[in-house]
Amino acid sequence: MPASPRADLDSLPPYVPGKSVPGAIKLASNEVPLAPLPSVADTIAQATNSVNRYPDMGSHALLERLSTGLGVPQQQIAVGCGSVSLCQQVVQAMCDSGDEVLFAWRSFEAYPILAQVVGVRQRTVPLDEHHVHDLDAMLAAITPETRVVFVCNPNNPTGTVVHTAALERFLDAVPAHVLVVLDEAYAEFVTDPDVPDGLRLVAERDNVAVCRTFSKAYGLAGLRVGYLVGQPTIVEAVRKTCIPFSVNALAQAAAVASLDAADELLSRCADISRERDRVRAALLEQGYAVPESMANFVWLPLGDRAADFAEHALANKVVVRPFAGDGVRVTIGTPEENDTLLEATRTF
Ligand SMILES: *Cc1c(COP(=O)(O)O)cnc(C)c1O
Repeated sequence: MPASPRADLDSLPPYVPGKSVPGAIKLASNEVPLAPLPSVADTIAQATNSVNRYPDMGSHALLERLSTGLGVPQQQIAVGCGSVSLCQQVVQAMCDSGDEVLFAWRSFEAYPILAQVVGVRQRTVPLDEHHVHDLDAMLAAITPETRVVFVCNPNNPTGTVVHTAALERFLDAVPAHVLVVLDEAYAEFVTDPDVPDGLRLVAERDNVAVCRTFSKAYGLAGLRVGYLVGQPTIVEAVRKTCIPFSVNALAQAAAVASLDAADELLSRCADISRERDRVRAALLEQGYAVPESMANFVWLPLGDRAADFAEHALANKVVVRPFAGDGVRVTIGTPEENDTLLEATRTF
């Protein structure tokens, strides 16, 4: 009998990365548009001198820096090779086969893929008519098998948020055996004060964890580093599921340098959030339906016209991220890039 892969992988949907098209403006992957700060680039260059050595497997310098900055003990922080890796690790750490993970749909496209790769069952609950997590329906969908619930806040790809009272009511009602993972990949772009800070919820509750990343606000998507904050037992288990040395040395050094430059980087995020609000207002004026976004992208719920829109945008030199039959996610770029986008939307 020939060596053959697991049969269920035939049905695994591929992760579709945002396209890069030479000469076109890429607004497809929720990256920030500006290059790394000189201080961060210098640190990365320095770190290349030691890449003959393995990285620090415990990411000690980064852990220490995160611990001080967040005011959270180190044993409550796990560092991972991007927060998408931490999302997978948390499922591996919490679930046996037969167990279930639960998440809203549409949400981050990695969730169904990583659940299937790990080999656990998945249950999805549609977003409500405002493209927001339907927390009551999610609560009702929890079963004795549910181990992990992802709440992506703000939600990728819709940009919508769940507010403090609604999330706390949900957490109050979730059974103790269920870990709620708040995926806060876009936390730094949130300007609505009624969006809860997941770290406070972790501090107050035993069954909440938070995932964050250096890929978005901190501009290190190409280096792959993120972190999870949770109770020490959860963190210890998540660390056990990390592929050894997967958080590379350049990423660790760059993340520390980025935290040192946080003021400057977060002020870039504030500019992007302002641009987001400007772009949304312009789109509304052009007649598009666009839910309020708290992330660095906006969602155009175009349904069957999503693929056509993406083609039209590309003809106008803008790459967006279509989800066929559903909608289009457009990342906020520089003001000039956003103006090009708004020209394209005007003529669709
Ligand atoms: C981008 C993103 C991540 C993680 O990105 P990494 O580059 O793996 O850190 C996690 N969750 C959501 C919802 C995202 O959009």
